[in-house]
Amino acid sequence: MSRALVLNITDEPLSIVSGQRAALLAYEGKADIVEFDGEVIRSEMLSLTVPTVVRLRYYVHISYERKCSISRRGVFARDNHLCQYCGCRADSIDHVTPKSRGGKHTWENVVAACRACNSRKRDRLPSEIGLHLRRRPTAPNRMSWVLSFANDVPHIWRPYLRTEMRRAS
Ligand SMILES: [Zn+2]
Repeated sequence: MSRALVLNITDEPLSIVSGQRAALLAYEGKADIVEFDGEVIRSEMLSLTVPTVVRLRYYVHISYERKCSISRRGVFARDNHLCQYCGCRADSIDHVTPKSRGGKHTWENVVAACRACNSRKRDRLPSEIGLHLRRRPTAPNRMSWVLSFANDVPHIWRPYLRTEMRRAS
């Protein structure tokens, strides 16, 4: 199944959809085809060019809520499955400021951690037991997020994703 990259009217990458969905966006006049590789969907009534990149004709505002919501799997992916305190393989997640002390379940307060660090830390702040975060946890950019799960980014998308691919790596 082919996939297409959807760009905002501002050229900012928004999402990845099926080629069929992108073909319909273009057919319905919601998007312009930017790139295609010659694939066509044919039915009795019509034949549709299957785009590999489309640009929306309207502006989609990416609200804070549309950024990805936090998940265990997501935290592991962001932190490369490495404990953010000691750097060994993580098998749990840790609330930097413990929940019992008002810490929130947010991207900025949750990190991947190994069992040893986690059990050593318990409901204390890292600074209280001499642990240091290797980097400040942040919410991932939505598109670099999508890409971290896309195994292969087609060459034709790369020019449109330069910024995102830098952020993802
Ligand atoms: Zn550790």
